Amino acid sequence: MKLRFWGTRGSVPSPSTAEVPTQEFGGDTTCLSLDWGSHGLLVIDAGSGLRQAGLAWTKAGRKSFTFLFTHSHWDHLQGFPFFAPAFHEGVHIEIYSPRLPSAHAGNLIERSLHAQQSEPFFPAGFPQLRAKIVFHEIQPHHELTLQDGADSLRIQATAVSHPGGCLAYRIDGSNDGKNRSFVFATDNEPTGEQSSPLAQLAQKTDLLICDGQYTEEEYPNRRGWGHGTPQLCLREAISAQAHRLIVTHFDPTHSDALLTKMEEDFKKSAQATSVQVAFARQGQTVDL
Ligand SMILES: [Zn+2]
Ligand SMILES: [Zn+2]
Repeated sequence: MKLRFWGTRGSVPSPSTAEVPTQEFGGDTTCLSLDWGSHGLLVIDAGSGLRQAGLAWTKAGRKSFTFLFTHSHWDHLQGFPFFAPAFHEGVHIEIYSPRLPSAHAGNLIERSLHAQQSEPFFPAGFPQLRAKIVFHEIQPHHELTLQDGADSLRIQATAVSHPGGCLAYRIDGSNDGKNRSFVFATDNEPTGEQSSPLAQLAQKTDLLICDGQYTEEEYPNRRGWGHGTPQLCLREAISAQAHRLIVTHFDPTHSDALLTKMEEDFKKSAQATSVQVAFARQGQTVDL
């Protein structure tokens, strides 16, 4: 299985500027892809990073996509109107998204994707998309299995702490016969408690990807906003006995220089633990 980060930024796309360079860690909002099995492709969230991904997949002639959404905040949806394959006949898109206890009737992501891609916000409305798009909902604690020939991917979800709700996902698959897993926990304010739902979900995972948007200094003024810090992520990773931790969902005000310093300090602080830590970079691939 191969993971790729197409977008690592939280809240809003943050193009590199002289004041806040973002070239190294990336300025696009959340989007990841997982190549699995012989042909499987799972796209997780549709932040602005999805635009570049869509161009690459169009060039490669890919016609089939499975999406997994964590929640409906705009930084996780806004790339979809710019997802080139959706405009093409013969493309098939399956979309899995959370059924959150707080949600109104109807599929939250289906409603949200239609709303953002309609007048007066966008000229080419959702119904004009040529791809065949099928929506499904996932309940926390329910399991989903995707099949690609003899290969399968097992997806489990748990609700995490974020205003309006959000799901974290554990994805288990195999690589050359070996079981491999990762957990994607964006837009979560970790508790660091051993019994947290995230720590339970992530038990002994190969890789925890976690929202560490704020510095330790910023966090006290942003409690309750639904995001974490690298140290809170590390506590979850330790509770879960995860092997690796990658921090993502960077704050739009955080420059490459600040993130480099944060990552250096974070690596030093994690040396005494058994968790390998790093910050995500847009364009980075991770073999699992
Ligand atoms: Zn977000
Ligand atoms: Zn959010």
